[in-house]
Order: sequence, then structure tokens, then C-alpha cells
Amino acid sequence: MLKPLIRRWSERPRVLVLMLAVMLPASALIVASVYHLRTIQRDKAIEAVIQRDYQQVLAIAEKRIDERAYEIAEEARKQFSNVVHSDELEPFLTTHPDIAHAFLWTGKGNLAFQSQASRMTDAEFNEEGKKVSSDLGNWFDVEAKDYVSKLKRIEATEGRRVYITDHWVPRGDIWQYQTLVLFVPQGSTPEHPALSGFIYGTDYLKNTFFPQALSEVLPNQNQSNTSHPQPAIMVRTVKDHSPLAASFCWDGGPPEVERAFESVFPGLILGIKLHGTTIASISDHFVRSSFLILGALSLLLGGGMILTYRNVTRELALAKLKSDFVSNVSHELRTPLALIRLYAETLELGRLSNPGKQQEYYEIIRKESERLTSLINNILDFSRIESGKKEYSFRETDVADLVRSTLGSYRFEIEQGGFQFEQRIDNNLPHLRVDREAIARSLLNLVNNAVKYSATEKYLGVHLYRHDSSINLEVVDHGIGIAPKEQPKIFEKFYRVSDPLVHNTKGSGLGLSLVRHIVQAHGGEVVVESALGQGSKFVITLPVQNSAQQAKGVSA
Ligand code: ADP
Repeated sequence: MLKPLIRRWSERPRVLVLMLAVMLPASALIVASVYHLRTIQRDKAIEAVIQRDYQQVLAIAEKRIDERAYEIAEEARKQFSNVVHSDELEPFLTTHPDIAHAFLWTGKGNLAFQSQASRMTDAEFNEEGKKVSSDLGNWFDVEAKDYVSKLKRIEATEGRRVYITDHWVPRGDIWQYQTLVLFVPQGSTPEHPALSGFIYGTDYLKNTFFPQALSEVLPNQNQSNTSHPQPAIMVRTVKDHSPLAASFCWDGGPPEVERAFESVFPGLILGIKLHGTTIASISDHFVRSSFLILGALSLLLGGGMILTYRNVTRELALAKLKSDFVSNVSHELRTPLALIRLYAETLELGRLSNPGKQQEYYEIIRKESERLTSLINNILDFSRIESGKKEYSFRETDVADLVRSTLGSYRFEIEQGGFQFEQRIDNNLPHLRVDREAIARSLLNLVNNAVKYSATEKYLGVHLYRHDSSINLEVVDHGIGIAPKEQPKIFEKFYRVSDPLVHNTKGSGLGLSLVRHIVQAHGGEVVVESALGQGSKFVITLPVQNSAQQAKGVSA
């Protein structure tokens, strides 16, 4: 009882080592990935990365918009440079309908100011012009000279001849954002400094300048491409959260990242977001899909582990069964050989005067050699089956006759062993195409088992009868029985119920696996019904219909 227990425990470490060798690194990888993902989730690292990217996009956008503003202003300035006279402000505005107001300051109290004539019918615009004119007049009287020097400095250092800044003007109770362009006109001298410029109104910035500038910053935008979220940019004033202008894809809502204009458009803010999604949802989606992938990988890994574990334990169990088989077979061979030798030697000495005794010894020698033959036949059959070389020769057979003759030679022996032997064979059973020798061997294996595994209740029943479209061959005993959990295993090769509490009978573990193979080769099946301590019933079912064709198929 101690031996199998010790063996089972000595196999366990091998399986454990194998499992650990794969499981430890894999689990470490999974734990590390989960930890890493959790850190990402906690630190909002992905959001930070995207925000950093967005800041860069906005910085580039600002630079491009600034460049475009300088280009347009410089273009207009070039045409203004011919203007030396305040009378020519009006023709300048006529050729530049985008410009709201233009002016020329030539000394304290001398500000020539002109608004776009075509818009003068608009009372608000008219009012705005007056307000701007008076503001600029007061402002330039104080600071114009400073701006002239500033413009000289800019020209010397940056090579630019315009200075662009913001200008706010009220319209009703709303402050309007305008862009003021200043430059030094031709004819300005240190003794008689002059400053001129023009103003782009809110309408132009809102409807023309920024939409064009933003579409240049984000080219190739189209609303139909929704598979990949596109970035959208808007511009707003510091005083208002709703966009002054926005790129094509802007779909409302607050921007993800904002950046204030630094030089050309002070007081304006650039904002960016993704069309149809948010950074938070992108980052959530990333973390969620990473967890899902990790979960799926873990499941696969777990499945792989279970498969490996089952495979390894099965291989180990088979290896153990094989080594048991060798020792069982050696024992099985040695016992009849020893008996044959013992009785043969006794007979050889010629000391047995009692002829009855002599007869008994001859019978023992015959029986033991028959046991040897059937064991060796089993082993040979098994090895043929394993190597795929087993061939069956199917012939039209009266199965009833076959069963009767097979049992005939054993009946006496069985009854002598104290068994109550009951043989019931139905009449008029159809003939089947079977391999006679193989079926006889199957029956003998079942009968031998019934005899071997019977304890005090010695009963053996063999029944052959028709059942639906098959012929059933039943071998019944009242022996030790088989536990339900063992029943599916006993048909496996080498398998023996080796619990010494159940039985101590020796065997090879090949008998039932051969029976199953033979029966299946005949297109039939073998099943067992048994309860521990109450005997067993093995039933071989051989199909009647098409039995010939099936048999042919298997033998091929
Ligand atoms: P063997 O008898 O050589 O061990 P088998 O393949 O014939 O091998 O049987 C496998 C196992 O099934 C046996 O070890 C035994 O435990 C069990 N067994 C087979 N037939 C019977 C039976 N009639 N009653 C009880 N147990 C049986």
C-alpha cells in the first residue's frame, strides 16, 4: 500500500518543476504588464503624452498663422508706401476691401483717418470708425514716436517693416477684437516722424482670415473620414469661450488643450480637440483594450497550462503503467513456468505410483501452459495492434457455435474451480462475418477475468442473444466488481485497478484493451455494468446488419 503512494509523490515534483518553469516567467510577465498598465492608468500618462503633442501642434499652428498675417499685412503695406498724402487713404481702402480703417499720423494732433467707404451706411460701423479715430489720435499723440523707434528696431533686427497687435473696440456692450497693423510710411524723418497703419475688423478675421489660415494649418480634412479621429482647431478671444473661428471639423464643446497667442494676436487663444472623441476616452480605450488583450493572453496561457499539465500527467501515468506492465508480465510468466517445471520434475522422478495423481499433474502442466499461451497471445496481439499490423480474417460464422465450442473446453475446469456456470445461448441466431480466433480470445479474456476477480460468490454466466439489430454476448460474474470511477479506465492499455484493497490478483492490464480493439474492429462495442462488491457484467455488442461490410472496412 505504501509503494504506490510513494511513487505518486515522487512523480509530483517532476510535474511541478515543469509547470513552474513555464508558469513562473509567464505569471511574472502578466503581473508586470498589469502593474505597468495600472501605473499608466493612474498617472494618466497617455493623456499627458497626447497633451504634449497637442501643445506642439498648437505652437506650429500659431507660427503659421503669424506668418500668414505678416504676409498679408506686408503686402498691403507695400501699396500704402506710396501714400504720402492723407487724400490717398480712400483709394487705398477701395483696393483693399478687407481692411476696415486706415490712418496716417504726421504729428501731434494730425491724424488722418479713413473708414471703408462702402460700409459707411452701417451706423454701427460709422460709430466704430469715430471711436477708433479718436482713440488712435489720443494714443499716437502720446506714443507714436515710441512706436516709430520700435518699428525701426524691428526692421533692423528682424527685417520686418510692420508691427501687428490687437485692438479692442466696443460694439454695443460687446468688445470686438480687431487687428492693428502699424508701420513707418515713406517720408517719415527723425525731425518729422510719421506713423501709419490700418485695421482689420472682426468680420474679416472671423469670416476670412482665420478660416483660411486654419485650413492651411490642417489640410486634407474631410468629414466623411470618420474611421480615424481628426484633430480640429478653433480660435477664441480671451473674453469669450465660444469660437471666433474654427477649422472644418470642429464639432463644438470645450477644447482639450489651449494655447494663448504670444506675438501677433495677443488676446486670442488657440484650442484643439479631436473630432468626435476626447483624449480621456482615447486613453481609456487604450487601457481597456490593453487589459482585454492581457486578459485574453492570460486565458490562453491558463488553457495552455492546463493542457500541458494534463498531457504531462498522462504521459507520466502511461510511463508508470508501462513499468508496472513489465513487472506484472514477468510475474505472470514466472508463475506458470515455475509450476510446469515443478510438476514436470516430480513426474520425471517417477515416484508417483498413484495414476490419479499423475493425471492431475499432467492436467496442471497443460492448464499452466495454456495460461502461458494465452498470455503470450495477448502480448503478441497487443504488439501487432500497437504497430498497426493486426489483421483480422473475417468469415461467415455461426457465433452460437463459436461460443459453445470456446466454452466447451473450459466448462469442466470452471466448474471444478467451484463456479456455478450458467450458459444460455439463443437458437436461430443469424450468422455473422467475424474473425473466429479474435472473438474467441475476447470471450476467453472476459471469462478469465470473471474467474480471476471472483471472491467467495463463484458464479459465471455467459449469455448470447439477439438484441434489436445486434447480437449481444454477455459475461456475468458475482465477483469483486469495479468502482464507477474505474470503469471508463479499465479498457485502456496497461490499466489495472491496482488498489490492493480491491484485489491482489496479478495480470498484464492488456486483456480488456484487446477485447475493445477486437470488438471495435467488428463494428461493435463493449460496455461494462458493475458495482463494487456486487459483480460485473461485460456486454459485447456485434451488429447484425451490414456486419459484413463493416468488418471489411476495418480489416482493410
Ligand atoms: P488484467 O486482468 O490483466 O489486469 P484487464 O485489461 O483484463 O487486465 O483488466 C483490467 C482491470 O479491470 C483489471 O486489473 C481488473 O481490476 C478490472 N477487471 C476486469 N474484469 C473484471 C471483473 N470481471 N471483475 C472485477 N474487475 C475486473
